[in-house]
Order: sequence, then structure tokens, then C-alpha cells
Amino acid sequence: MIERIIGAAQIDDDEVEQEFEVKLRPHDFANYIGQDRLKQNLQLAIAAAKKRGESLDHVLLYGPPGLGKTTMASVIANEMGAQIRITSGPAIERAGDLASLLTNLQDGDILFIDEIHRLHRTVEEVLYSAMEDYKLDIMIGKGPSARSLRLDLPQFTLIGATTRAGALAAPLRDRFGHTHRLEFYTHDQMRQVIARAAGILDIKIDEAAALALAERSRQTPRIANRLLKRVRDYADVNGDGIIDTTISTKALELLEVDELGLDPADRMLLTAIIDSYNGGPVGVETLAALTAEERSTIEDFIEPYLMQIGMLERTPRGRKVTHKTYQHLGKQQPRGESQPGSL
Ligand code: ADP
Repeated sequence: MIERIIGAAQIDDDEVEQEFEVKLRPHDFANYIGQDRLKQNLQLAIAAAKKRGESLDHVLLYGPPGLGKTTMASVIANEMGAQIRITSGPAIERAGDLASLLTNLQDGDILFIDEIHRLHRTVEEVLYSAMEDYKLDIMIGKGPSARSLRLDLPQFTLIGATTRAGALAAPLRDRFGHTHRLEFYTHDQMRQVIARAAGILDIKIDEAAALALAERSRQTPRIANRLLKRVRDYADVNGDGIIDTTISTKALELLEVDELGLDPADRMLLTAIIDSYNGGPVGVETLAALTAEERSTIEDFIEPYLMQIGMLERTPRGRKVTHKTYQHLGKQQPRGESQPGSL
């Protein structure tokens, strides 16, 4: 598999990558760049919970990968002065696994479940009463002698993260007191992310190069950090370690990341819609087959950014490219197509 430099998914089995992420992760609201509305809401909720001496209401964070959901969970824990346990939907295989996680929590603790939409149904059902009234219903024994037991749980806070809030069962979704969508970052916020990371990693980068990287990072901090690291490698080998625009332009060319942050996989997807389907609409399954990408990779990662920058539209009949896509890829738009923006 080709490693996608701009793939937003965390590369779990890469220890260096993980270490790098941990180092750059902001620990408090002051260092968490952007997402102002989310921060304001949470700061208020945290202050209120602290004043009442209660645990924070459950929080659901959703949005594309790499925008800072896990980071925000640890910021919340830090600001609450609480311990955080981190797990993920697919890692909790049986209801018993969740029961042992929950019974080992203490009052005020935070349980963070990443990819919460991937929880097994049986596990998810245990969460309902745990979230609602801090009770754990477990079945003891089997057959006619089986009986259910109700245990008290500590007053914990569940923070769930998901790339698709729509995939969550309604009873689970309804049990979150706070539901927030993380937004893509502006170029200026991305520039701040890069400046901050460069400071922590002691990387010398000039203003113009920082902005160039900011504009090509898919408005996603994880990608910005990763690009910065790759460009630094390039600067160390091909220059004197200082990143200026000449270095960053050459490095980005080598990485095949264009001025909108698109990589070959994005361009292949858009080109496929244009060349094989006359610009669309085309169903996502067909696109997955055409580009050899997983459907979930297309839906969770590739599409949100392409839609954000107006290069792709989702319609009931499938995906369509836009006037901007033809322009960006230097392709001729078929006559008679509507051209947004050209009244
Ligand atoms: P998600 O959980 O949404 O996939 P993460 O929280 O793991 O994303 O964020 C990925 C990386 O991006 C973090 O390690 C952190 O370094 C950086 N990051 C995310 N959000 C921010 C932010 N608001 N400010 C600065 N850095 C951030």
C-alpha cells in the first residue's frame, strides 16, 4: 500500500508517527488553535460542571479525521483535572470488556471512545443505562436461571468521537449532552498550527513557506504536522535545514501535493468522474471500484475536503464535479453544463 502523505488517518502502527503526534498535541484550550465556538461552549460547560462539583455531561465530537477530536478530549480532561481512559469502538469486542472498563473508572473520570460508530450493537446497548443513569445492567448465568444485576457506576463523562455522526444509533446519539462538529481550519489557523509545531520541533521555516504549507494541508492539523516533517527532511538533505519557499515548493512537488492540497488519489478520483462519467453524477460504490479506494476512505476522508473546497458535490443520484474541478484539472467542461458562479 502506498503511504499517503496527506492521508488524515492516524498511522497506528508507526511508533515514530505516534510519538510525534503526542509531542505536538496541545494540552489546554490556550494552545488548541481554532474551533472557537466549540471551545467557548466547552469552556462554559466545564466551568459550570466544576462550580457544581459535578462531572461534565457526555460529549460527542464529530468530523473528518485529523481535525483534533482526540486532542480536544485530552484538553477537556486536562481542564477538568480528570483522568482519561482512551479506547476505540472496534477495540471493545464484548459487553464484558466495556463493563470492566466502566467499573474501573472513578468519579469524574473521562472515557474516550474513538470511532464510536463502530461499537458492536450489544456493547452499545450496555452504554445506554451507563450514560443515562450511571448504572450497569449485566446478565448473570444463562437460560432459565439467568438473572440481571444492576450495578452502580461512578459519575463518569463519555467523550465519543466519530467521522460520521449519522452512523450512530439514535438512542446513543440522544444520550450526549453536547454534540459538536469540528470544522475545517482556515488558512490562517493552519499557519498558526505550523508555526506552533515548528517551534516545538525547533524547525526553521520562513513566513512565506509556512503559509504555503498551510494552504496545502487540507485545512487539517494532522496533515500540516506531517507535511512539515516531510519538508524538514527535504530541507535537511537538500539545503541547510531552513525551510523557505524554494525548498517547500520543491518538496511539495516531490510529494505530488498541489496548490490546493490535492494528492494523486484526489486527482484520480476527480479525473475518473470527468473522464468516465462526464462529470457525474456517479455512485460512491462505482467510484470506489474505479479508484481502488475503500468506500469508507472516500466518504470519510477524500470527499469532505473536496466538498469543502467546492470541487465535489453530493447529490441524491451520486457525486458530481463542479466548474472549479474542470478548471483546476485543466479539462474542458462539456457544453451545456451549468457553470456555478458565471451568471
Ligand atoms: P482526530 O482525533 O480528529 O483524528 P487528533 O486530535 O488526533 O485528530 O489530531 C491530530 C494532530 O493534529 C494532533 O496530534 C495535534 O498535534 C494536531 N492538532 C489537532 N487539532 C489541533 C489544534 N486545534 N491546534 C493545534 N494542533 C492540533
